[in-house]
Amino acid sequence: MEHRFSTIIEPFRIKSVEPLGMTTRVQRQAAIEEANWNVFKLHAESVLIDLLTDSGTGAMSAAQWAAMMIGDETYACARSFYKLEKVVRDLTGVQFVIPTHQGRAAEHILFTTLCQPGQVVPSNSHFDTTRANVEFVGAQAVDLLYDGASDPRTDMPFKGDLDVRKLGRLLADRGSDVPLVLVTITNNRGGGQPVSLGNLRAVRDLCNEFGVPLFLDAARFAENAWLIKMREPGQGDRTASDIARECFSLCDGFTMSAKKDGLVNIGGLLGLNDPELAERCRTRLILTEGFPTYGGLAGRDLEALAQGLQEVLDEDYLAYRHASVRYVFDRLDQLGVPMMRPPGGHAVYIDAAAFAPHIPAWQYPGVSLVNALYVEGGVRGVEVGTLMFGRPDPDGHHDFTANLELVRLTFPRRTYTQSHMDYLIEVVGAVWANRAQLKGYRIAEQRAVLRGFTASLLPLD
Ligand SMILES: *Cc1c(COP(=O)(O)O)cnc(C)c1O
Repeated sequence: MEHRFSTIIEPFRIKSVEPLGMTTRVQRQAAIEEANWNVFKLHAESVLIDLLTDSGTGAMSAAQWAAMMIGDETYACARSFYKLEKVVRDLTGVQFVIPTHQGRAAEHILFTTLCQPGQVVPSNSHFDTTRANVEFVGAQAVDLLYDGASDPRTDMPFKGDLDVRKLGRLLADRGSDVPLVLVTITNNRGGGQPVSLGNLRAVRDLCNEFGVPLFLDAARFAENAWLIKMREPGQGDRTASDIARECFSLCDGFTMSAKKDGLVNIGGLLGLNDPELAERCRTRLILTEGFPTYGGLAGRDLEALAQGLQEVLDEDYLAYRHASVRYVFDRLDQLGVPMMRPPGGHAVYIDAAAFAPHIPAWQYPGVSLVNALYVEGGVRGVEVGTLMFGRPDPDGHHDFTANLELVRLTFPRRTYTQSHMDYLIEVVGAVWANRAQLKGYRIAEQRAVLRGFTASLLPLD
């Protein structure tokens, strides 16, 4: 669309609505106490604006709901599979399209088929489930970001880039132990920091030189393409669709959680070019996911995904999507709220250590901020810091702490409007104004793995 006016609007109108859970402050105080001060345990009806994740939380279009009605529920070789296969082949150029119930199932099948114990899988940054699946087969997951890219304050346009010098060194040392190189677009760990096309091309060249296949973790391929168009010199005149196609053309295969840029609530994909690898993956898939033409999904889910993959590259949608992240970032920045810079594709990260410098890492400043946002305004964010990534020190008094204490506010797709964002900005602003009152927490109970999801906490006085 031509842009004569500066307001970037939501490029849709609303046909079906879902009431929000309106609560009072007193109710929220009781709810968070009941949840042991861990927002993962809050029941949905007590959350007003839910920014816990953008995974499977978006709104489908009328066209997607309509497509679901013509979903073909035939067990083997359903029409809906061939429709999805054609859309994915057109977009990505891969030969073999294997649906899975979500992204981690595609990862599990790929890594258990392709990796051996003792091997090493380099990446710009492994997503949690990706790392867990690499380590499950006894291989090592290595993250190779550029120095400074994990520092929240540096303002680099492509903080998701894989450091090609580090990769070159690793391939020269251990090339024969590297079953694949994996590039995550966008880098989820940093709030959706993009990977440049120039970087992907350079990684491709290195992979060619050492004869190693290149895979994408393509959960946010459309947001990455849009940020390339916006930020990379020489790419501004291309369409997001054209850029996304070039990114896929540079790889030998991909895993994808369709719950992000697939614009669906459940689903995943494994895309491959190697026929022998595809056959081995399909054989494994039958054990865990089902027949290879439905991979754990219903026919209607395949239809919704085929439609979603086309809608997500609409440039009015992508412009609005990035504008809403940017809008929240800019307004909070004006208030002085410390955040990870620049804003990524799907989230804003508040630097909780800088927000509440009086709370040490081992008293969970991120938890303190998340809980204050909830009690203040019913907004649910998530701590990405020492609660999530730290662990208890068996001998000392304090936890081994994380490098960064962040709070992620993640935006579901096509779900909230600008007035919801204005409200969010007010809530963060109110907590920021009273930040000196924020109190630390201690863990009352925790499990050995993924403690952030289940831990019980207690506020310190
Ligand atoms: C969500 C996500 C996954 C895992 O996908 P699920 O659908 O949640 O299983 C893998 N990689 C990235 C980058 C993701 O964002």
